[in-house]
Amino acid sequence: MALFKKRKYIRINPARSEKKDTSKPVKPYVPDGMWQKCPNCKQVVYKKDLGSEKVCNHCGYGFRITAGERLRLIADDGSLTEWDTDITIANPIDFPDYLEKIKKTQEATGLHEAVVTGTCRINGSEVVIGVMDSTFVMGSMGQIVGEKITRAFERAAERALPVIMFTASGGARMQEGIVSLMQMAKISAAVEAHNQKGLLYLSVLTDPTTGGVTASFAMEGDIILAEPYATVGFAGRRVIEQTIRQKLPDDFQKAEFVLAHGFIDKIVPRNELKTTISRILQLHVPWTQGGGDSE
Ligand SMILES: [Zn+2]
Repeated sequence: MALFKKRKYIRINPARSEKKDTSKPVKPYVPDGMWQKCPNCKQVVYKKDLGSEKVCNHCGYGFRITAGERLRLIADDGSLTEWDTDITIANPIDFPDYLEKIKKTQEATGLHEAVVTGTCRINGSEVVIGVMDSTFVMGSMGQIVGEKITRAFERAAERALPVIMFTASGGARMQEGIVSLMQMAKISAAVEAHNQKGLLYLSVLTDPTTGGVTASFAMEGDIILAEPYATVGFAGRRVIEQTIRQKLPDDFQKAEFVLAHGFIDKIVPRNELKTTISRILQLHVPWTQGGGDSE
């Protein structure tokens, strides 16, 4: 009979360590990793609500994603051909334990280095793509990152292809000393050679784009897009405040602030990025490829 039926409750298991201590009231056990705090609006978001795009449903901030996740959102299925995953990583200034650290990071992330480069299609248009990954030593730029990006621009120039670069970086990799800083000039030269051929370079600044990456190829795009509330800057906020002895505005180094000061062309929400990039590509198809009148 339904009247005497035991009511069903959801049972929340107490945490294991608390089970034994009977003197304290038992707290409900919430499994780790179900909730995430948005670093922008500080709201707590249920992880499943973030979806595959990982966008905060309160403010529109795009959470940091890996290069693999980014490629799944941007590149057409199965169209990626990755380049240069076999360059041997060296320790140019003999930084202690550097190679061990890189090896461990490679195993943990499944990545070769802090950038993935190659060719892919975006809604059918062939491009050379570079995606930085901030989970790999903060997406820092050492000689391998510099070499992979330089080669990507050189091959794009040879094949007359546009370059799309997603930046996410803490800056130059200090464990490589001066060699990491030299990458800024090396990549910039390759960007210019690509530019001399009249080819399109589109950079998309994602959270965080800072240091030597901002000071070189991130800001050299013909068109510069950014994701909402991405941190975009050169030196860190605290360093600047200590140097100039002034308090900086709250939104300092946010993409919106940088846009207002003329360094970014447009802020595009993550779910509109693929369509926007694809439209920009269509507008820049050279006439030899059927983008205009060849008569
Ligand atoms: Zn938010």
